[in-house]
Amino acid sequence: MVYELKAEYEFRAVIAWHVVPVGGSRSLCGSPLAPASTIRPISDLHHVHGVCRPCEALHSGARRRARQDALTGG
Ligand SMILES: [Zn+2]
Repeated sequence: MVYELKAEYEFRAVIAWHVVPVGGSRSLCGSPLAPASTIRPISDLHHVHGVCRPCEALHSGARRRARQDALTGG
């Protein structure tokens, strides 16, 4: 699955960047996000401030699982 970053707003200010499957409206941590939220490429994950910590952890865990699956052929 391919992911991207989506902004969560409070009073028009970005308060967090969540990891969302491309085209999705719900982040890995379960926050619903507006379809019109600003999107950044997932490659910005480690370069932007305010990335949602649960989303970051879940995303790195998903990548680790995918790599193990590739190694074990499953
Ligand atoms: Zn999140």
